[in-house]
Amino acid sequence: MLTPDQTVELRGRLEAELTRLAANAHHALDFTMDRDRDRIGRDSMDESTEEELYSTQLRLHDRETFVIVKIREALKRLEDGNIDECEECAEPIGFKRLMARPVATLCFECKSAREQVEADEPIE
Ligand SMILES: [Zn+2]
Repeated sequence: MLTPDQTVELRGRLEAELTRLAANAHHALDFTMDRDRDRIGRDSMDESTEEELYSTQLRLHDRETFVIVKIREALKRLEDGNIDECEECAEPIGFKRLMARPVATLCFECKSAREQVEADEPIE
């Protein structure tokens, strides 16, 4: 269980991350709009390069959306008061680990055990 101070600190960490990602997502949207505007009067020579760039941007955007969902879930767990609880063994995850990886849902031991059988979580 986190102390009230730790809860505040972790919430700040999560919200800062969310703000950063939201700014990036906004950037991706700008890119989409610029692209549509640029289409007028553009010849088809650089169409494939443009498509490639665009799909890269979208993939990045998808990944960011995924992380945003993870952070929202973490904020909900924080409000519910169980963010520090390992979803596997219900032992405390630990404040230091949460500050390093606020979307962690497993304690270090369970995480290490799981890494033996599957690839690492996509979020660092
Ligand atoms: Zn555990």
